[in-house]
Amino acid sequence: MRTKIVAGNWKMNKTFEEANGLTSEVLGMVNDEVQGNVKVVLCVPFPYLIPTRNLLGNHPRISVGAQNCSEHASGAFTGEVSAPMLKSMNIPYVILGHSERRQYFGEGGALLAKKVDIALANGLTPIYCCGELLEVRERNEHEALVQKQVEESLFHLSAETLQKVVIAYEPVWAIGTGKTASAQQAQDMHAIIRKHIASKYGQAVAESISILYGGSVNAANAKELFACADVDGGLVGGASLKSREFTDIAKAVNS
Ligand code: PEP
Repeated sequence: MRTKIVAGNWKMNKTFEEANGLTSEVLGMVNDEVQGNVKVVLCVPFPYLIPTRNLLGNHPRISVGAQNCSEHASGAFTGEVSAPMLKSMNIPYVILGHSERRQYFGEGGALLAKKVDIALANGLTPIYCCGELLEVRERNEHEALVQKQVEESLFHLSAETLQKVVIAYEPVWAIGTGKTASAQQAQDMHAIIRKHIASKYGQAVAESISILYGGSVNAANAKELFACADVDGGLVGGASLKSREFTDIAKAVNS
C-alpha cells in the first residue's frame, strides 16, 4: 500500500514564537485525532527546522521537512543550505521544484535533477513538485508539460531510487488562488503521471510511488480530492498555517 502523506508548506511565514505555537497545536491535534496510515510533514523555514524537530521528538507519524536545498554539497554559496546539512540535522524530507522556486528563482529541470540527486544521496526524501501554468492548460499542453517535468528531473534515477521520491502535482493556477483543481482534474493528471512512470519503470514501480495533490487544498475539499484512486494525500500551503484546518485535512485522508 502506498504511503499517504499530508505535508504542510509554511513557505516564508510565521515568527519563531508563532511557529512553535503552531507546531505544538498540530502535534496535540494529530495525536488526538488522526488515525491510520497517514504521515504528516511540516515543511518549515530553515531556521525553524531544529526547534520543530525537537518539539515533535521521535514522533511516529509527524515529521519535519525543508522547503529547498542547494544542488551543491558545501562551499562558497552564501545564503544556501545543503542536503548534507539537512542530513546532519536528521531532517527527513525536502520540497524540491516548488512552482515558486521555478518562477522566482529560475529553477528548472536540469538543476532540479541535481537537487534530487544530492537530496537522495543524503538520505532525504524529496517531495518533487510539478505542475502547469493556466495558459499551458488552456493550450491543452498540460499533460505533455507535466510529463516533461517528471522526466527531466527524475527519469535518470534507477527504479530503486525513484521509489524513494514523493511527487506533488501542483497546478500553478491553483496555488494560493483559492481555485482548486476538480477531483477529476487531479485524478486525471495523477493517473497520467503514474502511467508515464510505468512506461519507463513498469507498473509495480509506478504503483508504489506516492503522488500528492497541491493547490488550495482545504478542509472542505480534501475528502473528495483524497478519495481519488491516484491521489495519495496533499501538499498544503495556506491551510497548513492553521492548526485546526490542517489537522482536518490530515483526517480527510482516512475518512
Ligand atoms: C503550495 O504552496 O504548495 C500550495 C499548494 O499552496 P496553497 O495550498 O496555498 O494553494
